[in-house]
Parts: sequence; structure tokens; C-alpha cells
Amino acid sequence: MSSTSVVLSGFAGGIVGLLTAWPAYRFSVAWGEPPLAACATCGSGITTWVRLKHRCAGCDTASAVHPVWTAIAGATAFALLAWAMPASLLLLACLYLAGLGLLMSVIDLKVQRLPDPLMLTTFVGTAVLLTLHALSTGTWPEYARGWLGGVALLLAYLVFALLPGAPMGLGDVKLAGVLGLVLGYFGWPAVVFGAILPFLVNGPFAVIALIRRGRKARSPFGPALLIGWLVAVVLAAYQAS
Ligand SMILES: [Zn+2]
Repeated sequence: MSSTSVVLSGFAGGIVGLLTAWPAYRFSVAWGEPPLAACATCGSGITTWVRLKHRCAGCDTASAVHPVWTAIAGATAFALLAWAMPASLLLLACLYLAGLGLLMSVIDLKVQRLPDPLMLTTFVGTAVLLTLHALSTGTWPEYARGWLGGVALLLAYLVFALLPGAPMGLGDVKLAGVLGLVLGYFGWPAVVFGAILPFLVNGPFAVIALIRRGRKARSPFGPALLIGWLVAVVLAAYQAS
């Protein structure tokens, strides 16, 4: 896309990122718990979902990740995607997945889980946008390959997750399936890259965690999956254009 569109998309990603830090904090709860409704330190109530500050209004404790980091991550992802592909519903599907992926990554980093309601929202939205893209462009073979790619990545990561000492859980398996849907649309090389790259991204962090916290250390795999997906999609889309 034109440089203006890349800048606009990056700007939109920055806004999405800014607004992600606070909901990510509220969603960072143990399995089955409702979103946080009070500060963990001072107990003052939380009602809003839109907040730019990362410190509690009552006790000033830093609760959420600093929004600057999520803004940088969002802007980078959105700008890269807009740079690699033309304006289309396919691009919109990628931006949607990247936005919700950023939210889930922050939650995964905080509490090592990818909440099912967010995963379902990500899956349904991505699938609908991809379907609309196929309807408007007639790219049905690519669309069918997308579903095959999703199933392939889901099954591959299910096998990985069942191996002893695997760094990923069932949340990561589901996320891999959703990411595979888009990767498959771009082609089988993208699916293969999207399957392998997360291990390369995760590798150094896993080694550091092993040294610092020993063999029992659990580190989140979701962010690595999403970074691998972003690189694979950007490369595939850039090559195709
Ligand atoms: Zn507080």
C-alpha cells in the first residue's frame, strides 16, 4: 500500500495498542474467574474498560503494562501488515487478528493463559472477514486452503502440546488453528513458516527462563505464536504483491 496508508494503519494500530493495556489487565485472571472488578492492592472498584493510565486511581500501584509498550507493538504490527498487502477485507482480517492477538499476548505474558471467550471472538471475526473477502474476490481455492491450513496447524500443535515437556498448552493449540486459517489463505509455505517461526522466537526466552527459574518454569507461548504468524504473513503477502 502507499506510504500514507502505512502511516495511517500504524497510527490506528498505536491507538488500538494504547487501549489494549487496561482491558488486558482486567482479563488477566485465573481460569474461570470474571474480569477484575477491584484493584488487587487497595480494593478500590474498577468499572471502566477504557483507560489510558496504567496505575490504580486509588493507590497509584502500577497494575497494567505501560500503554506505551502496547501502543508500539500495535503500531508496528498494523504498519507492517498494511505495508505488505493491498487494502482489502483480507488486510482487515489480519488487522483484526493482530489487534486481538496483542490483547491475548499481554494476558498470556501476565497469567500464562489465553481466555476462551477472547479466542472465540478472534476466531469468529477472522473467519467472517475471510469469508467476506472470498465472496468479494472469488478466491475460493485460497479460502479452502485457509481452512485446511487451520486444521493442519491445529493438529500439528496438538501433537507438539502432547509431547513431554512441551512449552505450549491447549490455548496455544487453539490459537495456532486460528492463525493457520490466515496462513493457509496465503499458501502452504506460509503455514510451514508459521508453524516453525514461533519456536525460533520462543527459543531464547525459553533458555533464559530455564536458567533463571529451573526446569519447572512455565513461559507463555502465545506471543511467540503471534510474532511468528506476523512475520510469516508479512513475508508471504509481500512476495505475492
Ligand atoms: Zn489500588
